[in-house]
Amino acid sequence: MIRIRFHGRGGHGVKTAGRIVGTAAFLASLQVQDSPVYGAERRGAPVAAFTRFDSAPILERGVIDSPDLIVIADETLLADAGAAVLAGQTSAAAVFVNAPAGARLNEKYQILPPLVTWDITARTQAVLGTASALSAGLAAAAAKLTGLISAEHLLAAVREELRQLRATADVVDKNVTIAAEVFDQLSTVRFAPAASGIAGEVLTVGYEGVNLGTASILAPGNAQQRNTGTWRVERPEIDYDVCTRCGLCQLGCPDGAIKIEKNGFPVIDYDHCKGCMICAQVCPLHGIARTKEVRSW
Ligand code: SF4
Ligand code: SF4
Repeated sequence: MIRIRFHGRGGHGVKTAGRIVGTAAFLASLQVQDSPVYGAERRGAPVAAFTRFDSAPILERGVIDSPDLIVIADETLLADAGAAVLAGQTSAAAVFVNAPAGARLNEKYQILPPLVTWDITARTQAVLGTASALSAGLAAAAAKLTGLISAEHLLAAVREELRQLRATADVVDKNVTIAAEVFDQLSTVRFAPAASGIAGEVLTVGYEGVNLGTASILAPGNAQQRNTGTWRVERPEIDYDVCTRCGLCQLGCPDGAIKIEKNGFPVIDYDHCKGCMICAQVCPLHGIARTKEVRSW
């Protein structure tokens, strides 16, 4: 059995990535199970998804605590202790991180198994014009690393899953382009044969750690202490040469993360801005740029 655990933030598309890999494995006539962690599935919040596939029936259920492959959609998650993205890494044959080639992450984050990196975000930005919606690239990385899914099945799965999400033909084609490129450029990792994990008749269901998919706002009045800036996939940057101090961005921010200074200009509180980019959408002068968040927390 191959167990893949995807980690990302709401908006990265890890749920869809897990589904694409599951559908591709299904097309390859394998037994499949895929499921995301539901809960605080808000844009920017840490989320996870799980995909198992096997040639035999899959009896395991629940979260994957001993993954064969860990796929991480953003480097910032490695420094977010609450996301626990490396939990169970001793069982993994590989860890994939969406990061530029040559990023020295092994020592920085104590990553044990072979580490594979590829900058899916840069390619997705170039092809699709967004730093989120990485599902096709993440799925392609997972599919290629396992060595058990063909390009044909992967690309058919990308088309099918995005069609179900009502993506336009153009968006589907662009995602297929990204998936094909990632699949082509990565190499397969050697996976050791793994047991099914089922012994006897008692099924052990993995326990979901409280922080895996939650906002960690666990007590009344502690929202201020939760640094929701760690959820940010994209970063809003106000262009003060363009801003006319109309204040619409402050009114539109659902998190109260924009305050108006005495001089009338808006200022973003990056400790609590979640990167929803509503402010950029409501600014009538397009005076708030969307950039990829590169801060490591
Ligand atoms: S509206 Fe802008 S400032 Fe407020 S949380 Fe969203 S991105 Fe951040
Ligand atoms: S909406 Fe745009 S122009 Fe208006 S205050 Fe915000 S940044 Fe400035």
